[in-house]
Amino acid sequence: MSPVEILPAFSPVDFSFSTDSFSEQKYSCKGNDTVNDILPPSTYFKHDDSGSAEDDDPKVLFPDLPPLFTGHPDVHLRNGVMKAQQMSADHVPDAERAFFVADLGQIYRQHQRWVKCLPDIQPFYAIKCNPDPYVLRLLAALGAGFDCASNGEISQVLSLGGVDPSRIIFANPCKATSFIRNAGKVGVDLMTFDNMDELYKISRAHPGAKLVVRILADDSKSLCAFNIKFGAALEVVPSLLAKARDLRLDVVGVSFHVGSGCYDPSVYTDAIMRARAVFDMAQQVGYELNLLDVGGGFEDSSFERAATFLSDAIHQYFPDRHGIRVIAEPGRFYVSKAFSLAANIIARRVPPTEVASEKPTSDHPMVMYYINDGVYGAFNCILFDHQVVHPYVLSLNGSFHVPSSEPLQTSSVWGPTCDSIDCVCPSTKLPGALQVGDWLGFHNMGAYTICAASQFNGFEVSNVIYTTGSVGVSKEVWGALAGFAAEGHGL
Ligand SMILES: *Cc1c(COP(=O)(O)O)cnc(C)c1O
Repeated sequence: MSPVEILPAFSPVDFSFSTDSFSEQKYSCKGNDTVNDILPPSTYFKHDDSGSAEDDDPKVLFPDLPPLFTGHPDVHLRNGVMKAQQMSADHVPDAERAFFVADLGQIYRQHQRWVKCLPDIQPFYAIKCNPDPYVLRLLAALGAGFDCASNGEISQVLSLGGVDPSRIIFANPCKATSFIRNAGKVGVDLMTFDNMDELYKISRAHPGAKLVVRILADDSKSLCAFNIKFGAALEVVPSLLAKARDLRLDVVGVSFHVGSGCYDPSVYTDAIMRARAVFDMAQQVGYELNLLDVGGGFEDSSFERAATFLSDAIHQYFPDRHGIRVIAEPGRFYVSKAFSLAANIIARRVPPTEVASEKPTSDHPMVMYYINDGVYGAFNCILFDHQVVHPYVLSLNGSFHVPSSEPLQTSSVWGPTCDSIDCVCPSTKLPGALQVGDWLGFHNMGAYTICAASQFNGFEVSNVIYTTGSVGVSKEVWGALAGFAAEGHGL
């Protein structure tokens, strides 16, 4: 057994931190941008004290939701750490609980990118990716539709108020009959199918539905492939369409999904070509399709390139788009960068390899840090979504000041449960001076994280602090949400 080093749990925090200012990012839809053009803003802090006063004054727009702050998310990560410090000084139980900061301004900026690059494609946000109540309200206010996969998701969107059921696509090709019936009852008509049995179910439970045939797309260039579970091969599409015709069902369009976390945007070209083939097959059986649903899979870093491939392919295969509506089902594109997580180092262990003065390797890192969120919580994305996370130091030895000269050590980061699978980061470099009570930060924690977090081992799902973002975009976000609230929605 290696000894756990006991260190002071609550170190004093250096309150001399300051807000920072970032220049607006520039994006281009030309499809020739390098990764460097679209890297996230650096987490470099400038010394500038302006703007912190407004951050302390959160406002309530929706009485049932947490209040809204303004200001840069990194400021709120620090404020959250200081608040935790204060609470632990007051002996509040669970004071050092991990927490998220959600930057709604980032969602807004992603929407601007979307509208700029794909102005003719209406996004239907895939809510399974992160059904956060503010994210849904903001996207509803911005005019997005929603891709729902279950009754629960449909009710969640409809309960916002102000979202007409026609702005929902029930994009699960394998639905329980009762779910189909309920969709019909609440006015959700647009739904996908990819097999014969689904057609029989729909003809019984919601014969007036508007159907979208989900076809297979090449998903080999994605982190999470879907073909093994969903999608009709082009060869079976004619028989599916003929059956739909027999059952007097209304087939209106085609959809596909190139896989989640798609890293080669050229797959959209092939997918659009297949969709075109289905439009032609449908015409043979007497359907005039008018909806093209290009699915999700959009990655933040390759979005502009993907948008170019997609637009070019649509232009090539649907030269006369007259009367054809194009929609998409983006999920992670909207939310992945909008959420950051702060987690507290609750324990630290120096394995005996160090004692034996062996060189640390990635299998035997020198220092093991235990934090209070893990793969059963927010970091389930590591198991289910194949994400790789990178911690950064939020506080070091009780201070927000992390000197770049600080010597680094090979380290591993672990979640709080008693399961050895609960490893957040098997090998990374962290300052050797990190102590129990210090905080680690994680960016890009918005997609497929909170939504699938469990309370395994009695650890609660981490809270969220919301900000409308830094100067500029903050006003726009506030305006959109306030407009939505003023119409009486989501109260
Ligand atoms: C999960 C899913 C999406 C969203 O995928 P992202 O990769 O997050 O964009 C869209 N459509 C369907 C049908 C999905 O299952």
